[in-house]
Amino acid sequence: MSMNTLLEVSGVSVSFDGFKAINNLSFQIAPAELRAVIGPNGAGKTTFMDIVTGKTKPDEGRVLWGEKSISLLSMNEAAIARAGVGRKFQKPTVFEDQTVSENLMMALSADRGWWSVLWFRPKAENRDRVAELAEEVGLLDQLPRLAGELSHGQKQWLEIGMLLAQEPRLLLVDEPAAGMTPEEREHTTDLLVEVAKTRAVVVVEHDMEFVRRLNCKVTVLHEGSVLAEGGLDHVTADPQVIDVYLGR
Ligand code: ADP
Repeated sequence: MSMNTLLEVSGVSVSFDGFKAINNLSFQIAPAELRAVIGPNGAGKTTFMDIVTGKTKPDEGRVLWGEKSISLLSMNEAAIARAGVGRKFQKPTVFEDQTVSENLMMALSADRGWWSVLWFRPKAENRDRVAELAEEVGLLDQLPRLAGELSHGQKQWLEIGMLLAQEPRLLLVDEPAAGMTPEEREHTTDLLVEVAKTRAVVVVEHDMEFVRRLNCKVTVLHEGSVLAEGGLDHVTADPQVIDVYLGR
């Protein structure tokens, strides 16, 4: 694996009841790279994230991580999260009856992996870090508010802040702009671009306008493998991609 690769998926396949959801998929991402993954429904985007996070184990192939090329395949979800893979699901899962500050504090005080919130202990030295994280996601002026009172967009940013608290080296983000206002989308774009300056970020997204604004390399999945890869203009001009999106 090259020095400049953080995650290397190679020749990965997974079947559900004989149906190949992921078919000989290869995918690489560099440290601090922003990447958009697009593809029609059923292309395998969710299954891909499930494989990287250890929720689904492939039938074939390799998933290698970090400078030492350790295999993620023998690790469970919690161990993969501790190794630095964070995942943001579509729906925000913040603690609604806690403040923004408390939510961030919990995420900081917990070990990596959500299950460890059960053993949560607040630590005084985390206060400065809470403010830094809030600033990074644009919620510095919202710290005392209850998370339940935030807008949908603000909840998503809070959850991104909570994931960043766990110091991921790779963040997988599922449709971050869904249900957002145009202003919230714009802030989300800026936030993800900023986050990806120091961590790798993979954004699974349907909204092409949003992908365009991310201005990054795009991977098009189709039938469980990579159909095209490159800039958005390049991949959307690819006749195979046009076929898949517009139907034959
Ligand atoms: P996407 O996220 O791109 O819409 P998915 O990864 O969810 O695609 O699904 C890829 C294919 O695998 C789909 O045809 C889906 O029906 C199938 N699939 C996904 N998970 C399962 C499962 N647990 N059992 C059976 N089939 C599944």
